[in-house]
Amino acid sequence: MKYLFACLPTALLCSVPFMAFNAYSADATQCEVEFVVLGIGQDGGAPQIDRHDDPAWKNPSQRLFAASGALIDHRNGDRYLFEATPDIREQLFALNEIAGKADNDDPLGLAGVFLTHAHIGHYAGLLFAGHESAGSKNLRVFAMPRMKNYLESNGPWDQLVRYSNIALSPIHDKDAVTLGESVSVTPHRVPHRDEYSETVGFVITGPSKSILFLPDIDAWDRWETEFGTRIEDMIAAVDVAYLDATFFDNNELPGRDMSAFPHPRLLDSMQRFASLPDEEQDKVRFFHINHTNKVRFETSEQYQAMKSRGFKLAGQNERVCLD
Ligand SMILES: [Zn+2]
Ligand SMILES: [Zn+2]
Repeated sequence: MKYLFACLPTALLCSVPFMAFNAYSADATQCEVEFVVLGIGQDGGAPQIDRHDDPAWKNPSQRLFAASGALIDHRNGDRYLFEATPDIREQLFALNEIAGKADNDDPLGLAGVFLTHAHIGHYAGLLFAGHESAGSKNLRVFAMPRMKNYLESNGPWDQLVRYSNIALSPIHDKDAVTLGESVSVTPHRVPHRDEYSETVGFVITGPSKSILFLPDIDAWDRWETEFGTRIEDMIAAVDVAYLDATFFDNNELPGRDMSAFPHPRLLDSMQRFASLPDEEQDKVRFFHINHTNKVRFETSEQYQAMKSRGFKLAGQNERVCLD
């Protein structure tokens, strides 16, 4: 199936940061396989629960859903969700608005779900596949071995397995999962706070382009020392890289020891990537933004600092053509 959406005919990437899901119209092109960003927030989203002074409560355009995306193969109608977040209801509504009604038997309209790890923003939404909500039948959920075992062995997740709402498919580090003609997903283990599961990022490959989806990592250096992977090599291997930018710098959580929250700081990442050629820097799209990270507001110093260095945030509902 072919379909239309709004971006320049030759553009790989159509960006509509902070805008609502119905912002697509005018310019049209055709794309057979695409990735759409469905959330750019940290696990708890923004505004965060109990932060009643956050302007996003009264200005929904400033809301950030938890980091998520969907791979859509328009040739066969398959849709794969990356992360089942606490915002899954709104995110699947947005996906439906963007891609139209899915033509399959799953009540969520999905051919499968890929999970990076067992932290709230990345898998809590899986419960909506269950008996009390959508009641999916054997929805494929792709998970690493520890993550799979965790879901099978602990309530409430094990009920999804016992009721056959989900069917778990094991995935393995650096082992590509083929999803269709010239479409695959490859997990890459990363260092993170792995209480219940491993943590991975995904390389999502379409017929001629690919993206890196990496919402959570503790440190770029540790990826290299512990897993032998250099972030610069990963950026070089893809066309667009969605990267963890949870915090802007170490001044963000007054009164709290930020060493307990080991994510690469956006400021440090920009410094690290500053020596890359322009075309490599252009691939980077920061996401997984914490509610405290002022980069989420276009009027902030932090956003302006990022922009002046030539870096970008991912946009909610941004689309990448993988043809
Ligand atoms: Zn996270
Ligand atoms: Zn995490």
